Amino acid sequence: MKSLEHTPSAQGVTKTQPEAFDLVMLGGGTGSTIAAWTFARQGQRVAVIERQYIGGSCPNIACLPSKNIIHSAKVASYFRRSHEFGIAHDGFTIDMSGVRDRKRTMVSGMHEVYLNNYRNTGAEFIVGTGRFIAPRTLEVALPDGTSRHLHGTNVIVSTGTRATLGAIPGLADAQPLTHIEALELDEVPAHLLVVGGGYVGIELSQAMRRFGSAVSVIDRNERLMSREDDDVCEALRSLLEDEGIDLLLHAQITRVSGTSGQSVRITLEQHGTEKTLEGSHVLVAAGRTPNTERLGLEVAGRGHRPRLHQGQRATADDRARRVGDRRGGRQPTVYPHQRGRFPCGT
Ligand SMILES: Cc1cc2nc3c(=O)[nH]c(=O)nc-3n(C[C@H](O)[C@H](O)[C@H](O)COP(=O)(O)OP(=O)(O)OC[C@H]3O[C@@H](n4cnc5c(N)ncnc54)[C@H](O)[C@@H]3O)c2cc1C
Repeated sequence: MKSLEHTPSAQGVTKTQPEAFDLVMLGGGTGSTIAAWTFARQGQRVAVIERQYIGGSCPNIACLPSKNIIHSAKVASYFRRSHEFGIAHDGFTIDMSGVRDRKRTMVSGMHEVYLNNYRNTGAEFIVGTGRFIAPRTLEVALPDGTSRHLHGTNVIVSTGTRATLGAIPGLADAQPLTHIEALELDEVPAHLLVVGGGYVGIELSQAMRRFGSAVSVIDRNERLMSREDDDVCEALRSLLEDEGIDLLLHAQITRVSGTSGQSVRITLEQHGTEKTLEGSHVLVAAGRTPNTERLGLEVAGRGHRPRLHQGQRATADDRARRVGDRRGGRQPTVYPHQRGRFPCGT
């Protein structure tokens, strides 16, 4: 890693002479870091532009912190069931700020791992917000108000996704938690209403239930995790109901009112009947929206348009490409991780 801010070479560079790289990554998540380190190790000049998170979503606000908190919740669940295992105890309390601190310590440790990898491979990590200003040329707005211009022989766009709020009346005004805020809670929600029964909604529902929340999950599909096989959906439904989670499936939310963190109400229609749920917090986990705004993609070069499929190869004119969640489709981190190892579609 050459620098987290300006390199000396950058300061004298004019707007007409961008710094030249073999490979520039826009977005520093799972989709790009592996490729960045791989190519830098091979001697290529590589830059990764990242506006917020060292390592992207996975180690900061998604996979790893959620699993860290889920692990604390599992310990809480064992405590609650300790008599089943022949262990007596006199009750226990959940200290959510302690749970959160444990997660924060893990995240800081991951930053060190990522920064060490940048240092060891020679890929340059640039903190800033990037956008295309010409084919394969990016302007990076740096935190100190200055900017850098980078040109890549190849450019990979891997700007990820964010939680979708959707068009449910009142939902945005209720200031719902997304997974980001849910993983930063310093209190156990008295009653968590979860919009969305996909993997993000389900894993956080189970964790909060195990910490002691009442939890209701609302999904418009007839099954939880509706993209999975029937037997998997059924096993999950049965397991979550056993843990005391209230599941409202095939339910259309018609409006949300109140404020998450204080008191919130969700009105929905299920099997022709209107129902109203009241809770203390609402979590929205109803899909992902690609981060494609203000990237200047219209001037990026031809390569950002075609969608690459497995087995497709790069062409000379196809050098600004995309990897990771913003490509769409299924989105476990292993996809961008593998894709980042073979960024030219091989
Ligand atoms: C709660 C949760 C739990 C998850 N758990 C798992 C799991 O257990 N296992 C699993 O396999 N997957 C999991 N996932 C999915 C996984 O997190 C994603 O698939 C993966 O992080 C996507 O990587 P990416 O590189 O495409 O995007 P990201 O990691 O989001 O990286 C994109 C980066 O681009 C940056 N960026 C965007 N625009 C700009 C710009 N203009 N300039 C500079 N930087 C920019 C963003 O700040 C971001 O850091 C989980 C997701 C969530 C939400």
